[in-house]
Parts: sequence; structure tokens; C-alpha cells
Amino acid sequence: MSIEIDAIEKSFRGVSALGGIDLQLPAGQLTALLGPSGSGKTTLLRILAGLETPDRGRIRLAGRDVTDVPVRERRVGFVFQHYALFRHMSVAENVAFGLSVRPRRTRPDRAEIRRRVDELLEMVQLGHLADRYPAQLSGGQKQRIALARALAVEPEILLLDEPFGALDARVRKELRRWLRNLHDQLHFTSVFVTHDQEEALELSDQVVVMNQGRVEQIDGPQRLYERPASRFVFDFLGRVNVLSGQVRDDRLEQGEAFIRLPEACTDEASAQLYMRPHELRLVDAPTPDAHLPLRVEAINLIGAEVRIELRPDGWESDDLWEVGVSHPAFNARRPQRGERYFAIPERGHLLGDAVRAPRPLAWPRTGRTAGAG
Ligand code: ADP
Ligand code: MG
Repeated sequence: MSIEIDAIEKSFRGVSALGGIDLQLPAGQLTALLGPSGSGKTTLLRILAGLETPDRGRIRLAGRDVTDVPVRERRVGFVFQHYALFRHMSVAENVAFGLSVRPRRTRPDRAEIRRRVDELLEMVQLGHLADRYPAQLSGGQKQRIALARALAVEPEILLLDEPFGALDARVRKELRRWLRNLHDQLHFTSVFVTHDQEEALELSDQVVVMNQGRVEQIDGPQRLYERPASRFVFDFLGRVNVLSGQVRDDRLEQGEAFIRLPEACTDEASAQLYMRPHELRLVDAPTPDAHLPLRVEAINLIGAEVRIELRPDGWESDDLWEVGVSHPAFNARRPQRGERYFAIPERGHLLGDAVRAPRPLAWPRTGRTAGAG
């Protein structure tokens, strides 16, 4: 069932929470709403569910205007971060709840409800826990039961508000894969709220990035990562190194540091070059195209690659820089804390007065790698 969000606005006591949201979410897709706390994600989800009324705008599900249709008639299932299960009911009774409270004429008979509950519990792989009570379940199990309960009424739209937010990283990762599989099997349309960029990029077909009640960007995960449309999106998508300075003679300069820009740029404009940890290499000596002296501050060996944190030497940066290096490259050279290296860029995004939209840049691979590159 497709979802159409048309010019939705919502304020609470005169303070705007949503400032005009337009979105088309195709049927069968899993969409992530990604944004910092307070950006309006929950409010938008509650409006979709029918738990909140917008001040302005329309919601259409499969083309039908449901803006004034109450929650019970929307065929929407939802799972919230703390959507507590009923404590005095067993797991099976919790899952059966939505069906057992239906008016008699649409309520399935007891045997049918039991059959459906068993099926749902199998689907969330918790059939063996049917007779337990919520207090006897782990956090991850509770959220899977909450999901089974949401699915019991056969919703066509599933809304999830940070459903794994309270769980530890490992369980979270497992559950997000599992949710993706379930989504692919059942083909409902899902909207998933998260403030975790990794979760959004891994799980969804498209990502809506929200900022202060507005949509900042909507794109598939790969496109979003490759072409962030604004500084806000860039900052939100993980660690990034920024060289902030002035453009002079096609060089971006800051203190004694500079990078020659591979494309012509407005002179004397201020600009920022954004480079992700894997878009830089470390070398022993500066090149004519890049002079970025850095001293090794910390080395993190855990993970698919070695992460080296470095402090700018003779120029300014708000944060430490981080360069990702493969384990073999790291072992060939074994950089030590306090040693001085030079970073050279391979890719980056230029933002600032010199450019209107973030401009992706690439440099030809030159310079002798110090083993740490
Ligand atoms: P998110 O889920 O992205 O953290 P919310 O949708 O919960 O954001 O909140 C968006 C803004 O609306 C916030 O400034 C929040 O304080 C405000 N807000 C949300 N719900 C209410 C409410 N019931 N009463 C007053 N303000 C609210
Ligand atoms: Mg929220």
C-alpha cells in the first residue's frame, strides 16, 4: 500500500514540529526516517498511524485520503521503542490481543485465532515461548513479540519507531537483518524511524533524512552516501575529516596546510573539503598537490581496517582526523604514536561559498605510499 504525505504541518503550542512534509513512499518498500532527536520523526509516524492529527495537509494510503480516518480503520500496525507488552497476559495472549478485541462479526473463532498466533510466533521464531509472560523474556524477545502482535491484525503498513533503540548493539544488528527478511517475505510497506545512520543505510530501500521538521534529503542508501545534498546530511552520515580554509590559486589553504583542487574554483572564497577516513592515504612526505602534516595520536586495531587518529600539525581543525588503513598496509609500516605523516586525498566533497551544492572531487593517485596508505 503506497503512502502519500502531502504538505503535512504540525505545531505543538505554537512551536512547529513538522514544517511542510511532502513524501511519496512506494508500496512494498522499507523506508527509514533518519534524523536527530527532535527532528519530527515520531510526530510524522504518529500522524501516519492516525494517533495524531496534522494541522494542515493530507495523508493518502493507496490513493485513499485517510487524514480523518481513525487509527483502528487504517490497517496500520506499529511497534514503538517502549511499546510495553501486557504484563498480565502470556505471550500467546499478547499476540492474539488485536484479534480477540475485534467486534464479533469480524472476529475469527478461537481455533482460528490460536492457529494464527502459532503461525506468527513461528515467524518471529519464538513458538517455544507461547506460554511465558513478558517478565520472563529478554529485550530482543519482547520486541519480536511486539512485532508479532502488530502483524496479527494483518496490517498493510507497518510503522516502527526506534524498535531496537533500547537493545544492545549485537542484538540490534541481528534483529535488523531479521526484520529485513521478514519485510521481504511479507511485502508490506514499512516506515522505520531511527537516529542510527548505520541502521538506516543497512536496512532500508530509501532513506528520508529529517532536520528540524523538514526533509533534508530523500534517496537510496548508496546515493545518499555518495552524494549527500547538504552539510547536515554529510555530518550525519558518519565520521568525516574537514579541511576548512580559503581558496587561492585553486588551492584550499589553512595555515601551512593546503590541498590543490582538481577543478577550478572561485578565488578567495571560503570552502570546506570533506573527506571520509577511507578517502585519504598517509605518506612520508608532502606532494606538490597536498601538504597536510599530521601526528599520530591513537591507533585502533579492532575492525576490518585499522583506524588511525591524527592531530593536525601546524594548522587548525575542530576535530582529530581519522584515516582508515588496511591491516596489511598497517603491518608493513607499523606507524607509532607521535610520528608525523602527510595525508593525501583521493576523493572528497567540496562545500562552501565556492560551490552551491556539495561537489564530489577525485584526485589521480600519485605520491609514494608510506605503507600506511
Ligand atoms: P523525534 O522523534 O525526531 O525525536 P518528535 O517528533 O518526537 O521528534 O518531536 C518533534 C518536536 O515536537 C520536538 O521539538 C518535540 O519536543 C515536539 N513535540 C512532540 N510531541 C509533542 C507533544 N505531544 N507536545 C509538545 N511538543 C511535542
Ligand atoms: Mg522519536
